[in-house]
Amino acid sequence: MNIQKSLAILLILLPISIGPLQAQNSGFDGLKAEAVASVDSMQKLTQEIIDSLFSFSELGFQEFETQRYLTELLQDNGFDVELGIAGIPSAWWASWGSGEPVIALGSDVDGIPRASQMPGVAYRQPMIEGAPGHGEGHNSGQAVNIVAALAVKEIMERENLPGTIVLWPGIAEELLGTKAWYARDGLFEGVDAVLFTHVGRNLGVSWGRARGTGLVSVEYLFDGEAAHGAGDPWEGRSALDAVELMNIAWNFRREHLHPLQRSHYVISNGGDQPNVVPSSASVWYFIREVTADGIRQNFATLQQIAEGAALMSDTSVTRRIVGAAYPRHFNRPIALAMDQNIQNVGLPQWSEDDQQFAKALQTLMGSEDPQGLATELSGITPDLEEPISGGSDDIGDVAWNVPTITLRYPSNVSGLQGHHWSSAMAMATPIAHKGAVAGAKVIATTMLDLVQSDTLVDEAHSYFDDVQTADEEYQPFIGPEDPPAIEKNEDIMAEFRPLLQDLYYDPSRYDTYLEQLGIDYPQLEATEIRRN
Ligand SMILES: [Zn+2]
Repeated sequence: MNIQKSLAILLILLPISIGPLQAQNSGFDGLKAEAVASVDSMQKLTQEIIDSLFSFSELGFQEFETQRYLTELLQDNGFDVELGIAGIPSAWWASWGSGEPVIALGSDVDGIPRASQMPGVAYRQPMIEGAPGHGEGHNSGQAVNIVAALAVKEIMERENLPGTIVLWPGIAEELLGTKAWYARDGLFEGVDAVLFTHVGRNLGVSWGRARGTGLVSVEYLFDGEAAHGAGDPWEGRSALDAVELMNIAWNFRREHLHPLQRSHYVISNGGDQPNVVPSSASVWYFIREVTADGIRQNFATLQQIAEGAALMSDTSVTRRIVGAAYPRHFNRPIALAMDQNIQNVGLPQWSEDDQQFAKALQTLMGSEDPQGLATELSGITPDLEEPISGGSDDIGDVAWNVPTITLRYPSNVSGLQGHHWSSAMAMATPIAHKGAVAGAKVIATTMLDLVQSDTLVDEAHSYFDDVQTADEEYQPFIGPEDPPAIEKNEDIMAEFRPLLQDLYYDPSRYDTYLEQLGIDYPQLEATEIRRN
């Protein structure tokens, strides 16, 4: 055997024998291998999108800087963009290509109130006291989707493959505020598959019923009669009394609700000052259950209680649906195809710094045995045998209209508190960037499955028609007239946007946002940060 020949054999054997270092991209060939390489070549873009959205720190329904930045990027890359879909000003629908399959990629973009936090440091330090921040990690999913879409678009153009790519945002997901409205307005009619991405702590997908709940988010507004609190209180009818009576009644009723329900409220208006009998007051409820029927039942109970409270206080009541989320059910054939790609992509190669930072955050949040970042895939999660209660996501409403899956990608750290500043700490660091690159590879290769396979789209539709919706029909919690709650968070963003603008990431001057902020990642001890 000559040297050349043995070298050739060695090269053929190399990817198999080289082990975990190269495991990331092994197992793909043809167009998928190309798509993965293309995603890798866009690591810089991935980081810029993630860091930019992190710095915008926008709350639900007010994601206007996010919208401007992302839709300009999409238009520059040949996508047609429609702004303000479904009557939601900060939303958009970006599409490219023609014909089938129509693949729609979605991910949320909104932040969390009061979650402002310096990234890359392992201690509490708000960037702006009291400001919103990405304390969930919704600044990363659009990067996953856009990078995947650009990689696949390039291949489809060159290979002349038919198909349409759509990119859309989950606006105000933290308010469960838009996806049911998108569905109501028919945006998903004609879409063959929705690949949804959500930040996670591992790389994984599920099918069938997902853990968690669905919900109705509803605000009750009571109307009474003002009077002098001391001069002639007998002339007054207190709307706040109605709110309090309603809450007391609901809290008694809890004992007799199914234990998997979750419900919570805030008093969104409790009156103005004590010596004026409140003529208007309101309370905002989330009513969660693991089944759609359970939600409907508990919502009917809440309605009865609200009417009872109005009767007791001699006030009147109206209600407004603020958000809705159907319990989630994900598509089996697409999830199985995606899981194959997940196994080929594997988890990112975390650096020592990444692991050290993750463990420092876990320790900060009370862990005595910090595990760091995931180094083993969690595997596919099948249909739940028994429901498990927990949070909700309005992707449920999409998943009952079109075959849908949610990919979780490892851009955040496990063991932190949800909806909390700690969950923002890693979201503009290499952990977030690497996790999103891995996610983009999975989305890109699964898009190619949908484009190239002769059977996958049909299988996905059969599962949707013959299994998922065989005995259960989608009956949305919103009516044909309920408007989206687009004024929410307007006041908070009006207060903080001018302060946040000074901190927007400028990729033309700084390689990363950490560099712009003068952070020496991973910064474990509090030292004075010198902003660059
Ligand atoms: Zn979320």
